[in-house]
Amino acid sequence: MIQLKNPDQIKIMKEAGRITGEALLVARDHVRPGISTYELDRLVRESIEKAGAKPSFLGYGGFPGSACISINDEVIHGIPSKKRFLEEGDIVKVDVGAFYKGFHGDSARTIPVGRVSDEAQRLIEVTRASFFAGIDQLKVGNRLGDVGAAIDGLVVANGFSTVKRYIGHGIGHELHESPDVPNYGTPGRGTRLCAGLVIAIEPMVNIGTETVRELSDGWTVKTADGALSAHYENTVALTGDGIINLTLIEKDF
Ligand code: MG
Ligand code: MG
Repeated sequence: MIQLKNPDQIKIMKEAGRITGEALLVARDHVRPGISTYELDRLVRESIEKAGAKPSFLGYGGFPGSACISINDEVIHGIPSKKRFLEEGDIVKVDVGAFYKGFHGDSARTIPVGRVSDEAQRLIEVTRASFFAGIDQLKVGNRLGDVGAAIDGLVVANGFSTVKRYIGHGIGHELHESPDVPNYGTPGRGTRLCAGLVIAIEPMVNIGTETVRELSDGWTVKTADGALSAHYENTVALTGDGIINLTLIEKDF
C-alpha cells in the first residue's frame, strides 16, 4: 500500500533530504585521485551524524557502510573499503541515505575523478538528464509509466541502456516503500500519481548492455560487459502545487 505524506510530514522529509544532499556535497568535495572509498564513507557518515541524523544504509540488510560507493563498471551497492582508492579518470557513484525524525532521504550522484573520457562525461550528463525528463512527467493525474517511459526514452535516444533489474521506490518511514518506480514503462500505464506521493527516482544507465550481475560479496552490482555505468537519484515529493526535490541542494549537482 502506498503511504501518502501530508504537508507536515513532507516538511520533515525536506530536512532529511537536505541532510542527505549535504552529505553528498561533502563526498563530492573530497573526491580526488588517491582517496579511499572507506574515507569517503567516513566523511559521509560524519556529515549525517553531525546534522543529528542516522545513515539509513548503515546496517540495512547488513550493509557495512553509510554510503554505497561504486566505481566505473560497478552499477550500485559498492562496499566502502580501505583497499579501494579512486584513480584519475574513474567515475564514482556515491549513494547516500539519512534518517531524520522518523523519515528517510535517499540520493545518489556520479562524480568524475579528475579528468574523465568524453564518453564517461556524456554518460554522467545523460543519466542526470534522464532523471529530469522523468520528473517532468511527475504530475498529479499522470501515471508512473509516463515517468519511466520518459527516462528510458531519453537514455535510448542517446545510445545508452537503462538498467531494468534495479528500480526506484517509494520512501518515508521506510527506506524502500511502495510503489516500485521503474526507469522504464509505458505511457498512460501504472500507478496514478497523486499529491502526497514521495518517491526516489534513480536511473542507472549503462554505456553497453543493460544486463548486470551481482558479485560474490553479496552486494556489489556490476555491468555484465564491464562497460561504464552511471547513477543519479533524488527523493521527490509530489504536492498539489507541483514537485519538491527534497535532496537537490545545489541546482547543478
Ligand atoms: Mg539511493
Ligand atoms: Mg534509492
